[in-house]
Amino acid sequence: MRRFKVGILGATGMVGQRFITLLNEHPWFSVAAVAASPSSAGKTYAEAAEGRWVMEDPLSSEVAAMTVLDATADRAKIAENVDFVFSAMAMPKNETRQLEESYAKLECPVISNDSAHRFTPDVPMIIPEVNPRHAEVIPSFRKRLGITRGLIAVKSNCSLQSYLPALHPLTEYGLEKVLACTYQAISGAGKTFKSWPEMVDNVIPYISGEEEKSEVEPLKIWGTLQDGIIIPANEPAITVQCIRVPVTDGHMAAVFASFVKKPPLDEITERWNSFYGIPQALALPSAPRKFIHVFTENDRPQTRLDRGLEGGMAVSVGRLREDSQYDIKFVSLSHNTLRGAAGGGVLLAELLCAEGYIQ
Ligand code: NAP
Repeated sequence: MRRFKVGILGATGMVGQRFITLLNEHPWFSVAAVAASPSSAGKTYAEAAEGRWVMEDPLSSEVAAMTVLDATADRAKIAENVDFVFSAMAMPKNETRQLEESYAKLECPVISNDSAHRFTPDVPMIIPEVNPRHAEVIPSFRKRLGITRGLIAVKSNCSLQSYLPALHPLTEYGLEKVLACTYQAISGAGKTFKSWPEMVDNVIPYISGEEEKSEVEPLKIWGTLQDGIIIPANEPAITVQCIRVPVTDGHMAAVFASFVKKPPLDEITERWNSFYGIPQALALPSAPRKFIHVFTENDRPQTRLDRGLEGGMAVSVGRLREDSQYDIKFVSLSHNTLRGAAGGGVLLAELLCAEGYIQ
């Protein structure tokens, strides 16, 4: 595999910083451009990120010395100098939608963390282990825009990445009804305890827009490709409550589910343990060896102990048991800025490169 030059839009933010650390020694990708808002543009990355770098790994000297570009004004220059971009900008959705599309029209593929294009019918929303075949919609997108190389592929919201992977291997039992309560880390809001002191010793029972995304996005992920668009699935019925809790990283979910045919608990454990997808089959660089890790101890998974499993790319489940109202209940956990954001984006880019969609 040849090396790809990549740009990061929103490079100074929480997810952008994760992209920079993940790409530091990536075997296929190297950072060739960093871009953010006009207020950071023109500064070196080190100046723009001063006092804001929150990653455990130090900033590499190469990226520190790069000049931050303006993601909008400099887009032609960026598109010309990179093979594709990762997008993680916090800006109004209609502006993000237009900006990402303008990169695609400049024949620059966009791998996005943003929700702006999640419901564009010919844009795939992919969890690489779950619905990699949705990439087959990309030729229709290119035809609609009259382009040959550009594309937009998006990641789903981070909250559902804590529970959808555990439900996916069980869909053959006829998943009918899901109730999930998510306990979400403050980094999901791009914050730390320093920048959000109100979160210390506190729980906030509201995350704007999150419950709507968490209830609807799984239906597109479980949807089918027909006539050049993704048609969302009709089932299961999903209801979600999303709660902000005082942890730095890691979204946990308490999940209840009912099926047409109730699966025995030992079969569920077996399906979780044996589940693997195309990223594992292709041994993509960021793929966890095992996607789902099953715990049998009553007090696992725990956020601090288990969010970093397999570089933060695995999902862990535990406390599986029968329920009195639903068929089963369990708890699951994923790292929100790794599997749920930048890591999931890098894995998606690896999939699209391996399958020839990005050349
Ligand atoms: P963040 O820490 O607030 O960072 C926002 C980034 O967007 C900064 O780089 C900022 O640049 C840039 N930006 C703001 N306005 C801009 C503009 N007009 N043009 C270009 N860049 C602009 O936010 P975040 O948590 O990294 O989230 C970024 C995106 O990823 C959001 O869409 C978010 O919903 C999504 N996401 C986040 C997570 C998570 O766990 N944090 C998970 C999944 C998805 P400046 O520094 O120049 O202001």
